[in-house]
Amino acid sequence: MNWKRALGLDNLSEEYAFAREESTGYTSAKKIPDHWVPTTCGYCSVGCGIEIGVKDGRAVASRPFAAHPVNRGKLCPKGLSEHYTLESENRARYPLLRQNGKLTRVSWDEALSVMADRFRATQKTYGPEALGVLSTGQLVTEEFYTLGKLVQLGFGTNNYDGNTTLCMASAVSGYKVSFGSDGPPGAYEDMERADVVLLIGANLADNHPILCQYLEANRNKTLIVADPRVSKTAMMADIHLPLRPRSDLALLNGIAHILIRYNLIDREYVDKHTAGFTELERFLEAYTPERVAEITGLSQETVFKTALLYGRAKAGFIGWTMGVNHSTLGTATVNAICNLALLTGHIGRAGASPFSITGQCNAMGTREAGFASSLPGYRKFDNAQDRADLAAIWGMDESRIPVKRGLAYPDIVEAAVAKKIRALWIIATNPLVSYPNQDVLRNGLSNLDFLVVQDGYHPTPTTELADLVLPAAIWGEKEGTYTNSERRVSKVNKAVAPQGEARSDFDIFLALAEKLGCREELYPGWRTVEDAFNEWRRVSQGRLCDYSGISYALLAEQGAVQWPLTEGATPQGTSRLYTDGQFQTTDGRAKLVCTNWAPFPEQPTAPYPFVLNTGRTVEHWHTRTKTREVPILERLSPRAWLEMNPRDANKLGLRSHDSVDVVSRRGRVRAVELRLTEITAPGQVFMPFHFAETNVNEVTQDAFDPISREPNYKQCAVRVERSGANA
Ligand code: SF4
Repeated sequence: MNWKRALGLDNLSEEYAFAREESTGYTSAKKIPDHWVPTTCGYCSVGCGIEIGVKDGRAVASRPFAAHPVNRGKLCPKGLSEHYTLESENRARYPLLRQNGKLTRVSWDEALSVMADRFRATQKTYGPEALGVLSTGQLVTEEFYTLGKLVQLGFGTNNYDGNTTLCMASAVSGYKVSFGSDGPPGAYEDMERADVVLLIGANLADNHPILCQYLEANRNKTLIVADPRVSKTAMMADIHLPLRPRSDLALLNGIAHILIRYNLIDREYVDKHTAGFTELERFLEAYTPERVAEITGLSQETVFKTALLYGRAKAGFIGWTMGVNHSTLGTATVNAICNLALLTGHIGRAGASPFSITGQCNAMGTREAGFASSLPGYRKFDNAQDRADLAAIWGMDESRIPVKRGLAYPDIVEAAVAKKIRALWIIATNPLVSYPNQDVLRNGLSNLDFLVVQDGYHPTPTTELADLVLPAAIWGEKEGTYTNSERRVSKVNKAVAPQGEARSDFDIFLALAEKLGCREELYPGWRTVEDAFNEWRRVSQGRLCDYSGISYALLAEQGAVQWPLTEGATPQGTSRLYTDGQFQTTDGRAKLVCTNWAPFPEQPTAPYPFVLNTGRTVEHWHTRTKTREVPILERLSPRAWLEMNPRDANKLGLRSHDSVDVVSRRGRVRAVELRLTEITAPGQVFMPFHFAETNVNEVTQDAFDPISREPNYKQCAVRVERSGANA
């Protein structure tokens, strides 16, 4: 027993002591750091600047990085509590190898030797393509670039993709088709400068909360939010369009129809900078206001009003997120958004942009550093010149560069089911919560000869299945850069040492290359992540995503800058792309694309009468590996729920807080708390996707966009039963 306690004295005075801290005033003395380390938030793609407070080598506080250009002194609840993610119980701390059915601690040397040997042996037996890699949007850009080289040039497989395909691949594909290249054209400040902001399937208030301050700062805008739910963002709108699930593409085509019919287009812009107008005009004849009203469930008057507002705007901004991307028509819907911007010339000007708001903190970095859907620097696999350029920069034979992309994420899973992929390396993602139709994934993973999971967290449902777990350092424990949704490159800094024996992903990749005997060939002279960054600057030079003028020194000085920034140019970066109307297509013209609406694949029927929509809540991040251990976030949102309209509940004899099962043709989610609310329309239900214990992806559908391969998470047919009724 503590001697103070034995004497009946206060033995918790240190625990409860308060002291004054310069930025927060009186606070717990334990949370007053010795110093603050500036970095970038490791959750979402908004890319807020954050400072980690460090005391005695441990992270004790987080606060906004006041000088950072993105968040202007604010953070959302996840950012404000981010330091809790570093020492949580569920961190992966040691390499673990499955021996006699049990994950057992081994040395790094043994772990990497086994991994290299098993992967090589699999490839020798079944061919190089029998190895698949599923990565993430959570690493720093330097790590994505390093990993891409290791997988495609070291291991010689291009069956490499990331969880970004589950999130924003449709935005990438859509930009490529319309503009000839990926790359969001606008900037956050466009939300402040537009007179009309149209958000489609984008619940910023929950998913990108700090962006709401850009909307709030713009007093002169009309905010239109198209969303089947009355989301928190819809509640902020001047006009909410409660359209039927997945009717957004019909709405967009209907708006384009009205713009053309009433001459609200910028004909000069269309003639000078686009191709395909005549075909589009003819195609859109079918999207009359009458038909669009019938498909969307909106009145013709509302469709007209929306079209007139956008068409007459001086600067119109269209933002979208997963409501658009999570669809078998995701790419087509992105093209329809780009059509509107091109028809009206609402692009390349202040306030005017078709703007995809992406998901993870560095989804943009993985898009740019490439290797999955394109080669580094937005180069194309099927472009001989692009391949020759890369080979020349790397000083290697052109034949080493893949001529086509490998399998996309869902196709890697299907290939595992078909036993064509025999070994898999999963990095910083948790598909056993996040993949649609979990049964198919479980089937694929059970067929593998060897599964490696490299993650900052263990146990997770995915690491528990692994043959080898590699513990990785996370945000706050390593260095590099993230790029946010507006192309802003921001420095990520190390504040504390990694937990246990965890190593940065960069170190792991280099050590593995050493085992494979290709380290010096692929990474000549590299010792630090800055070496990777400097090579990446050269690889991106002259490309749309030109980083050549960005250095670690510049980032330390300016906080964060937007690419492209060419070496020697003024160091402010570039706010907007396509200001000159020149696009990345062969003729420099953007494409107007004819995109036909179709109903979503699994329509409700009598046995499955509800349309299930899935999404997120502000307190949690993805599969909750990080936020489950952050006390304040977990207390605010401890369990999953199902939203249902009270009229539907009445018919089923259900009441608020009843425990219900959600059932589809593929599976059942048991014991979900029912919440009755008018936020969700009759005939629809909504459930968040963060919760492994009640995983909505047991019932979602594995249907995918044919171009981007992004899943149709947003609509599938389900029924709702009182728990225990028919189980
Ligand atoms: S809005 Fe996104 S980037 Fe900003 S603090 Fe929140 S989670 Fe982090």
